Amino acid sequence: MSKTAAGEVEQDVPEIVVRNRSRYADTLHRPDPDSDDTRPACPIRQSDKEYTTVPAAAYLGHYELCENPECFGREWR
Ligand SMILES: [Zn+2]
Repeated sequence: MSKTAAGEVEQDVPEIVVRNRSRYADTLHRPDPDSDDTRPACPIRQSDKEYTTVPAAAYLGHYELCENPECFGREWR
C-alpha cells in the first residue's frame, strides 16, 4: 500500500471492484486479494452476502466508494 500525500487526493481505484449482489447496493469495495472468493477487502466481507466483481468505470459516479481503510477510505489517524 502506498500513500504519497495527505489531504484530498484522487482515490486509487482498481479497474475491477466488488459490489454486493443486492439490487439495493450502492457501495463499491476493493477486492480482497487474499481470498479465492469474491469478497470485499474490508470487514464487511464477514457478512454472508454475496458479492460480485464489476468494472469500476461502469459504476463510478452513481455508486459510492467504501470508506473503510481497507477499501477506499483514508487511514485512521
Ligand atoms: Zn469495503
